[in-house]
Amino acid sequence: MLSKSSINGLKSRFHGELLTPEDHAYDAARTVFNAAINRRPALIARCTSPEDVIAAVNLARDEQLPISVRCTGHNIAGFAVCDDGVVIDLSPMKTISVDPDARTVRVGGGANWGEVNDALQPFDLAATGGFVSITGVSGLTLGGGLGWLVRKHGLALDNLLSAEVVLANGRLVTASASENEDLFWAIRGGGGNFGIVTSFEFRVHPVGAVLAGIVLHPADAAAAAIREWRTFEATSPEACTQGALLFHFPDDPSGPEPLRGAALCGLGGVYAGAIEEGERVLRPLRDYGPPLADTFESMPYNVAQRMADFLWPPGLHGYWKSSFLNGLSDGAIDTIVEYFAKVPSKRTVMVLEHNGDGAMDRVPEAATAFGHRGWPYNLVVTSAWSDAADTDKNVAWTRACFEALRPFSAPAAYVNYMDDEGAEGVRTAYGATKLARLMSLKAKYDPRNQFRMNQNITPAAAAGTAG
Ligand SMILES: Cc1cc2nc3c(=O)[nH]c(=O)nc-3n(C[C@H](O)[C@H](O)[C@H](O)COP(=O)(O)OP(=O)(O)OC[C@H]3O[C@@H](n4cnc5c(N)ncnc54)[C@H](O)[C@@H]3O)c2cc1C
Repeated sequence: MLSKSSINGLKSRFHGELLTPEDHAYDAARTVFNAAINRRPALIARCTSPEDVIAAVNLARDEQLPISVRCTGHNIAGFAVCDDGVVIDLSPMKTISVDPDARTVRVGGGANWGEVNDALQPFDLAATGGFVSITGVSGLTLGGGLGWLVRKHGLALDNLLSAEVVLANGRLVTASASENEDLFWAIRGGGGNFGIVTSFEFRVHPVGAVLAGIVLHPADAAAAAIREWRTFEATSPEACTQGALLFHFPDDPSGPEPLRGAALCGLGGVYAGAIEEGERVLRPLRDYGPPLADTFESMPYNVAQRMADFLWPPGLHGYWKSSFLNGLSDGAIDTIVEYFAKVPSKRTVMVLEHNGDGAMDRVPEAATAFGHRGWPYNLVVTSAWSDAADTDKNVAWTRACFEALRPFSAPAAYVNYMDDEGAEGVRTAYGATKLARLMSLKAKYDPRNQFRMNQNITPAAAAGTAG
């Protein structure tokens, strides 16, 4: 229980907003992307600086209150909010400084990828970011960071040069290849387990216009279309980062016929190279069918990063399952298509990502805490629905679909796409060797597990602590 006097004490050294259940802005500030999450924190501390973050961490520790950390609130498991604890909300910390000569960008812990790439685009630079624009820089980078440049330039965390981190003991430290190297290793994949990152410095890349878009086929032709995509992907250059999607086109009266409300298979993504070369490379994929629609065109990268946003609007109920695949066999494709035909909600999207066979595979496996670089294909089932009464049937369908896909799943999952898998999921995400090292570093940097609203790495017994 947080007393008024503790909050008043914090006020004297805190420069952002402090929201409690009595405040008008409280409900909006505790709302996250997934409408199924409804938690009531004792305090939401909207931080404006590392000093604010330190003050909030110290208060929560001294009062023995749970902590959750929020960047955008996008995480499907809703880790950004907790019941009865302190939300350390970084969303006001959106400073973005580009150094075009050094090709780096420094980003505050509350920014999203759309904002970062908007700031980079005038310099014809881009960061990998995510496949949609509203995902947060913080959570995405700390867990991995898959986006439209991953095959060419690696994961978001492969491009991280340094980070400013507030530790559980309230100290602000730098993590980089030359300072606190063990912490730098751990935060590149270990999520928010080791501290609160107040700013990130990334390497960025020359990217002007890209050739981006999607070809759409009817869902009943999906099995053949995905096989065609598999053949295309087998030799596609690293400039291509593409996915295959099963989804329903929004049933909006202004939507074009025959797409409106239709069950579709989409094949597409970004070609980040010379446009004429991209036209040549993508031609077989675009000619196949022919498709119902072909949206590929040349556009700035920050526009391409928004092209899939319409598929994942905030405010729906959500439940996800995900795994790397042990290949992309006919059996896997047929099972995905079979389950999509029975999907209970038209808001659900099934995504097959081809992220591997490129830059992320060239980073040695042991270089970062991120688990499992060797699996080129990743499946994520993003179930979404609008009415809470439909929860049980959507969760049951998602679980059944995932079970049916188990024979085709690798023993490996991407931590940022996990939902309610718990300790077993954490083991799958890191594997035994990395998890053991992460647990030992957790014991050093957060021995009391104050940062546990996450895919939690528990501290190993009896290790030294961070001074
Ligand atoms: C619609 C949708 C699309 C997605 N697309 C992609 C994608 O294209 N590529 C991809 O790789 N992932 C993607 N994801 C997964 C995404 O990476 C995770 O959900 C991630 O946790 C989101 O981070 P966030 O900061 O936006 O979210 P938040 O909910 O704000 O944060 C999630 C968790 O990250 C930790 N955290 C956040 N900020 C900090 C910080 N500054 N310091 C320490 N810990 C922190 C905390 O544990 C927090 O609870 C997507 C998710 C959704 C819902």
